[in-house]
Amino acid sequence: MRKIIITLDGYSSCGKSTLARQLARELNYVFIDSGAMYRAITLYFLRAHIDCADTEKVIKALSEIALSFEYNPVTGQSDMYLNDENVESLIREMVVSEHVSEVAALKEVREFGVTQQQLMGKKKGIVMDGRDIGTTVFPDAELKIFVTADPAVRVERRFKELFEKNPSITIEEVKRNLEMRDYMDSNREFSPLRQAPDAVILDNSNLTREEQLQVALAWAKERINA
Ligand code: C5P
Repeated sequence: MRKIIITLDGYSSCGKSTLARQLARELNYVFIDSGAMYRAITLYFLRAHIDCADTEKVIKALSEIALSFEYNPVTGQSDMYLNDENVESLIREMVVSEHVSEVAALKEVREFGVTQQQLMGKKKGIVMDGRDIGTTVFPDAELKIFVTADPAVRVERRFKELFEKNPSITIEEVKRNLEMRDYMDSNREFSPLRQAPDAVILDNSNLTREEQLQVALAWAKERINA
């Protein structure tokens, strides 16, 4: 059966990664969470106190970063590694969420991320989620999905997820962070978040995970068999 590239883009906390992971599992494809890569770069920048305005330091820092995904047999999912350190949990913390959009907007960071992501898709058979995957990383992807959900639903979902790990987090904090990231991701100069003209929209505000999977799976099978 021919292998295709599937991209999922959309605003923060639309459930893109969950759907992408499920799709990849069903199709026996590789799943790549491109947001995790930008989060890992941000973690490195925070630890090394890299000033985003200092291009020389940014370039040097990027040359010191190696990113990889490694399978975790306990969770059955891939974890993000930054220079051989498992940072899967650290990159989900609020401090990273607060800085990631600034770091991800840098031209050098985008080139670094996009080049690696394109290499990962060389053999096809990949599901990648992010903000610019269908527009910049894989403009020729066979299936592009633009995932949306009602903003209140997104805040609620994200809050529940974060509250489990950090009960001191407030819903206002989560709302502010999502709004800030959506604004910065949509208005940056390089690779802004956009719906690709040939993307299909999937609004999952009122869909269960299983329902949205079935919709996306039907689209994928249609493209695979085309
Ligand atoms: O997907 P996630 O919410 O984990 O992404 C974190 C951040 O990484 C986004 O808010 C955005 O700033 C950046 N990102 C990006 N391009 C992508 C994926 C994520 O700029 N393809």
